[in-house]
Amino acid sequence: MGKLYLVPTPIGNLEDITLRALRILKEVDLILAEDTRTSGKLLHHFQISTPMQSHHMHNEHKKLDHLIERLLDGEQMALISDAGTPGISDPGFLLTRACIENAIEVECLPGPTAFVPALVNSGMPSDRFVFEGFLPVKKGRQTRLQLLAEESRTLILYESPHKLLKTLTNIVAFFGAERQVAVCRELTKMYEETIRGTAAQVLEHYTKKPAKGEIVIVVAGKK
Ligand code: SAM
Repeated sequence: MGKLYLVPTPIGNLEDITLRALRILKEVDLILAEDTRTSGKLLHHFQISTPMQSHHMHNEHKKLDHLIERLLDGEQMALISDAGTPGISDPGFLLTRACIENAIEVECLPGPTAFVPALVNSGMPSDRFVFEGFLPVKKGRQTRLQLLAEESRTLILYESPHKLLKTLTNIVAFFGAERQVAVCRELTKMYEETIRGTAAQVLEHYTKKPAKGEIVIVVAGKK
């Protein structure tokens, strides 16, 4: 019987790869990568020459049966995404579920992911939190925002830089201008920053200075 490893990869700083991640990526028979070009650079940097195959949201359904067959035949595989932990706003869930249904062992290694350092950097309560990933772009967005405005736990959102202003504007409108917000940008990278303040202050900051790079928004829960 084979085994599936879900292997987190750095979200910016290559020093964040773990020793075990490197060993597993060297030892498995096949690496399933969200983008073989992006992961090719990472693997080349660490001198890993394990065969690689693409596994992304557009082909993961189609390839599932074949991968399960190969795992049942005894192959060891590692799934990696472009950055961070597979399955966290990235492909991983479908294959993990299919492995479990087929009694194939699954192991997710601990490692880089953007939401944990963002939550801790925010200085907001981290004993109870809600990870929402990306908000719906159109359909269902208003309903989700209305629901989340009532949430008492700290809320974590992933966002792209060109939608940051829209989302901050929505937070002011649905959660109130005084709700505490932290925007964590470019975690682990050279221009890492966290801007903390009320929703109105953070919106004003990014209206004056448009954001670039990768972003996590942390919102305080309703008091
Ligand atoms: N699997 C990844 C993880 O474990 O965090 C998330 C992948 S998701 C497709 C990409 C989003 O994660 C970005 O749009 C951003 O919201 C967040 N993200 C990834 N890297 C980041 C970084 N270095 N700094 C801030 N946010 C980051």
